[in-house]
Amino acid sequence: MVKTSTSVMNKKFNISLLPGDGIGQEISIEATKVLNWFDKFSDLSFVIDEHDIGGVSFDKYESPLTENTLEKISKSDAILLGAVGGPKWESLPFENRPERGLLKIRKELDLFANFRPAIVFDALVDSSSLKPEIIKNLDILIIRELTSGIYFGEPRGVENIDEKNKRGFNTLEYTSEEIERIARVAFETARSRSKRLCSVDKANVLESTELWRDIIVKTAEKFPEVELTNMYVDNASMQLVRNPKQFDVIVTTNMFGDILSDCASMLTGSLGMLPSASIGRKTPNKCNAMYEPVHGSAPDIAGQGIANPLAMILSLSMMFKYSLLKEDYSKVITRVINKILDNGYRTKDIFNDKDKLISTSDMGDLVVKELNNEKI
Ligand code: NAD
Repeated sequence: MVKTSTSVMNKKFNISLLPGDGIGQEISIEATKVLNWFDKFSDLSFVIDEHDIGGVSFDKYESPLTENTLEKISKSDAILLGAVGGPKWESLPFENRPERGLLKIRKELDLFANFRPAIVFDALVDSSSLKPEIIKNLDILIIRELTSGIYFGEPRGVENIDEKNKRGFNTLEYTSEEIERIARVAFETARSRSKRLCSVDKANVLESTELWRDIIVKTAEKFPEVELTNMYVDNASMQLVRNPKQFDVIVTTNMFGDILSDCASMLTGSLGMLPSASIGRKTPNKCNAMYEPVHGSAPDIAGQGIANPLAMILSLSMMFKYSLLKEDYSKVITRVINKILDNGYRTKDIFNDKDKLISTSDMGDLVVKELNNEKI
């Protein structure tokens, strides 16, 4: 496992909170309620430092992430991010778009391993568009390479071929070192779970992912206890929907992981239920972990108080596990969410006829209320 920090009794943790755009603002308020609860009632204490990112940062500073913000968050113990983006900023030049702020954090802090669990809560079995027997008890983990591949490869751009015709191009590239480090994380993680790892690529048509497969297979020799399978991405997307429980840990490239994890989100019922952790190697005095929901800024529902804050709160739960090494607190949060869902409380995205419909802030309040009944 990638370990991120040593937890010390009564240590004060500095958490950078970047709410961002759209529903990012709303769900961050709910995550703060939970963090404040742990500050008050647990052996940990927190200093929460809030900064701008994305469109809101561009509006203030003409940059989606200022150097000043980057420097400050780099010194914190962990970063919690809401979401970035929205139609207001879609026509900006590429380097000023909200998403560039996010990509810059990932790249500058070298957060190369993105953990995206897809867990089906018992109470939400009927919220998925798939049959209950296909997804009941599902608990899979997608590990996505996050700092290389086609999202970062050069050259990239759009150029004129002639007066009428343009050419858009991006570069899909991976070095063997980049593949080996994500492979190690994936094998180590699989070893700590069911000892099954599926690597997803497109080795039949893309040379860079042929190299991906070669390095994965070579790394497997160092982990004989882990059973490795390799799958093409087109087949993997089909298998995820046909029989998702055949998987336990999946490791894949940046773009394939982006797409497959959104697909996996619908197994769980809603994008609003999917957390993530982006983690790099531990280096002294440098933050190596960011936690954020998988979803975006959801401009279609922003400002209405109906967004589901659970992906954000579950991201906080991942922070307890990976950065603060407090897995028991992480489990407490998951248990509390289970209880709330079992009692029939739902935000609109996971609501069915018989449920109790509640708002974004009601959900945050309920998590805190249920935490009060927990012994930690
Ligand atoms: P999205 O994830 O924002 O929304 C997709 C759909 O899911 C929408 O119908 C939305 O209402 C719903 N949804 C998402 N999160 C929800 C939640 N917590 N509760 C209830 N419903 C939820 O994706 P999009 O619409 O393709 O993108 C919107 C903007 O977000 C774009 O600017 C995009 O670039 C950006 N984006 C940012 C991130 C990020 O910050 N990590 C990720 C993806 C997209």
